[in-house]
Amino acid sequence: MSEIISIANQKGGVGKTTTAVNLAASLADEGRKVLLVDADPQSNATTNLGFSRNDYEFNIYHVLIGSKKLSEIILKTEIKRLHLAPSNIGLVGIEKEFYGSRQKNRELIMRRALDEVKEKYDYIIIDSPPALGPITINALSASDSVIIPIQCEFFALEGLAQLLNTVSLLRKTINPKLRIKGFLPTMYSGQNNLSKQVLADLEHHFQDKLFSLKKDFIVVPRNVKVAESPSFGKPVTHYAANSKGSRAYRALAKAILKA
Ligand code: ATP
Ligand code: MG
Repeated sequence: MSEIISIANQKGGVGKTTTAVNLAASLADEGRKVLLVDADPQSNATTNLGFSRNDYEFNIYHVLIGSKKLSEIILKTEIKRLHLAPSNIGLVGIEKEFYGSRQKNRELIMRRALDEVKEKYDYIIIDSPPALGPITINALSASDSVIIPIQCEFFALEGLAQLLNTVSLLRKTINPKLRIKGFLPTMYSGQNNLSKQVLADLEHHFQDKLFSLKKDFIVVPRNVKVAESPSFGKPVTHYAANSKGSRAYRALAKAILKA
């Protein structure tokens, strides 16, 4: 049985793509077959895995408009057992397509696309864009669960209620199985009081929804190796395997496999 996990938060720059790429790579390194779906027109997950625009002709846009099957666009990556469904800036056009069409159940287009390949993978990880628009709704509608990265900075919890409402609405309507897998504090800095406050708030409100391995909650530290790794086209877990950022993401994968 495969598990489909969306990484979502409509706030920009909170660590969604970093989490999607490194969790996917770490699960693959743990021996699981993984598909990473880049569902963001910014295509950061695609670039982060070392692909540039000329490396592939078709992308997730073509799948969502129905002109390609998902299996036709999937790329093998340098990481064993990790495949990628790439994105491209052209995906911005999808909102118009979705809303312009009279297509029924347009929230379920991604789910149907994943159905074709689902059984080939142990995990499918979907990186979503910083908006609660049709792409994110499609990703959540296709998912068993969602991981919500929370940046340990000012306004960290802003907009969270809206995201949680969307999740519960989807659960009541088209996706009853959707659950919150957990909140992942990201870019945590121990020297920064604000960071400590955000983490304390999360521990207070969502203790049972934080990931943990052994007795410690998993917190991704602010780490320069994490910030550098995309420009080398590698997850931090491969670019700097022993860095603190890498260790946090490997722990996240282990915690998920143990649960
Ligand atoms: P968007 O909403 O634009 O899709 P995002 O939520 O996907 O953004 P990322 O792209 O993962 O966020 O991260 C934003 C920036 O912060 C990137 O430049 C990334 O390299 C950097 N970053 C992410 N996590 C860390 C970390 N733990 N330490 C240092 N830098 C980080
Ligand atoms: Mg992103």
